[in-house]
Amino acid sequence: MNNYFIILASGQSKRFNSSKLKQYIIYKNKPLFEHSIEKALGSKLFKKIILVVNNKKQINKKFPENVIILKGGKERSDSTLIGLNYIKKFKPSNVLIHDAARPNFSIKLLKNLVRSLSKNKAVIPIINTNDSIKYRVKKKLFNLKRENSFSTQTPQAFKFNNLYSLALKQKAKIQDEATLFIENNFKIKFVKGENLNSKITYLEDIKINKTFVGIGFDIHRLVKGKKLYLAGLKIPFHSGLKGHSDGDVIIHSIIDALLGAMRKKDIGTLFPDNKKKFKNIRSPKMLNTVIEMINKNEFYINNLDINLICEQPKVSKYRDKIIKSLSKLLNIDTSLINLKGKTVEKLGLIGKEKAIACEVICSISQ
Ligand code: ZN
Repeated sequence: MNNYFIILASGQSKRFNSSKLKQYIIYKNKPLFEHSIEKALGSKLFKKIILVVNNKKQINKKFPENVIILKGGKERSDSTLIGLNYIKKFKPSNVLIHDAARPNFSIKLLKNLVRSLSKNKAVIPIINTNDSIKYRVKKKLFNLKRENSFSTQTPQAFKFNNLYSLALKQKAKIQDEATLFIENNFKIKFVKGENLNSKITYLEDIKINKTFVGIGFDIHRLVKGKKLYLAGLKIPFHSGLKGHSDGDVIIHSIIDALLGAMRKKDIGTLFPDNKKKFKNIRSPKMLNTVIEMINKNEFYINNLDINLICEQPKVSKYRDKIIKSLSKLLNIDTSLINLKGKTVEKLGLIGKEKAIACEVICSISQ
């Protein structure tokens, strides 16, 4: 095991529209570059892991002793050479060069790259392109044949001596180390890369999938002579729920959970019960207003978990109907809704069938 891992984290992030340099942005709860260090450490493949950064002062975490932090150069190729120059004294056999902007590679890929180096001088992971690519020569446009084109990823694995001698004599700016081998007509072994191992280039790349949760609770008294509405359905029962509206505790709890997840206060603020226009308003109509807010703010619902707290009616009897109704009202698949029935051992108002309560947790993403 005479392998070394160089992580390049000294880019200027010109396409990354943020006040913070891309490599230090918090991604999945830690600075972007740390993911690469953790994977390399976890693989146990490397004698040393070299992190090349713009400013060593920006790294305030203590890493294990075999993690070395170096100050990088002006261009990517300068930083690579700084890393290679540093490890030269250890007489390395193999070196992997990796771009810190790719945090999602697997340890399996690292092992595959190192294994393939035993018979090759350069091993590069590639993936087929899904986009159709055009290119221009002077004023003429051409289509690139998709079956002949692919993109290269990092980590890229090399025999140290081969890479080092090429890196020493390179003159032009290069995008990656594979380019050096290609331009010098050296043989490259291509292995299958990973679709998840995409490069974070734009701020939007990591802004997707912000997830929030919300909680809702509601309780209404049961009174004789009223119809019982649950989840927008009329349910045969000896009493109905009293309230300014139809008293639908399931929908009211869902509304509060969704508003909570959106951080938009609560149902009472949105539909004040001292306002005449909301008197006897049907709950599905209120829910619809909230769903419009969800859509307008580009949220989508991941799931709902509902506890209906009552002695009667029995949830098991109406579960499928209730879930179907909610799926329709919320415009989400039934598999994303879970409904549990909970009795209270005949205790209190709920136990005496004088009230029904409901609690809901939901998760939404933007
Ligand atoms: Zn209510």
